[in-house]
Amino acid sequence: MFENLSDRLGGVFDRLTKQGALSEDDVAAAMREVRVALLEADVSLPVARSFVKSVTQKATGSAVTKSVTPGQQVVKIVHDELIKVLQGDGQPEALRIDNPPAPILMVGLQGSGKTTTTAKLAKRLKDREKKRVLMASLDTNRPAAMEQLAILGQQIGVDTLPIVPGQTATQIASRAKQQASLGGYDVYMLDTAGRLHIDQVLMDEVQAVRDIAQPRETLLVVDGLTGQDAVNVATEFDGKVGISGVVLTRMDGDGRGGAALSMRAVTGKPIRFVGLGEKMDALEGFDAQRIAGRILG
Ligand code: GDP
Repeated sequence: MFENLSDRLGGVFDRLTKQGALSEDDVAAAMREVRVALLEADVSLPVARSFVKSVTQKATGSAVTKSVTPGQQVVKIVHDELIKVLQGDGQPEALRIDNPPAPILMVGLQGSGKTTTTAKLAKRLKDREKKRVLMASLDTNRPAAMEQLAILGQQIGVDTLPIVPGQTATQIASRAKQQASLGGYDVYMLDTAGRLHIDQVLMDEVQAVRDIAQPRETLLVVDGLTGQDAVNVATEFDGKVGISGVVLTRMDGDGRGGAALSMRAVTGKPIRFVGLGEKMDALEGFDAQRIAGRILG
């Protein structure tokens, strides 16, 4: 389906090997291939452009131009640069969930996988970090979503806040906070309402909930297959409520993972986890190496 970057560059450089050292034009041709590969991997255009600009400089060094394997050298430079952007300054940070009960606010659009991810993350915290977790659904418009979280909670053995019909999102958030303190929970997770599009009502509600819970972590759940849209959603949420990290779902799909690069480059927010399926254990910590490999094809 896709031609990977090594093959693409191989084609460009094969043509050139007979001509001795690489010229600037040769490097430019190689960089065009890099750009196409990024765009095919669903990296947004501005991000692909600035990425290519920064690798061009490194690829014009004599180590590459005089190398007998310039294609491989360029692939390595691109790979290293991808890791640099994807990883940001350092290692992926751990979630800030000391000082119990630590609130985690889960935000995102409807259908992004927010409720599923809330349960997956609760399970992970319970299994791996031995945390006592309480989950609460704040989706007052969709009783089915509240039920869904309760059912998932039962499946994974994590408590959910009892549903009290007629309460507002902020009332539920207050109740969750109180219950988490009284019940001796380490973490409480608030699964906020999603909507099909970002609107003022959604943002006002999330802000009000945020002000009550004062979350240690605000995780945005976005569909990793939506490319540039995912980045726009992240920019919007970060501007309005402030996010501390991102979870990219549906990374088990056909997508090439370019949204991860755009996300990191544009928002500067760390990708904390990736969703790799519908099952409750299909959540993994973000691994820049893996995503870089996928983007390169
Ligand atoms: P919400 O409206 O954002 O709360 O979305 P849901 O959590 O209800 O998820 C919507 C659908 O996406 C469900 O069928 C989930 O099983 C599915 N889903 C969520 N995360 C993933 C993922 O990482 N991979 C796949 N393949 N499906 C997912």
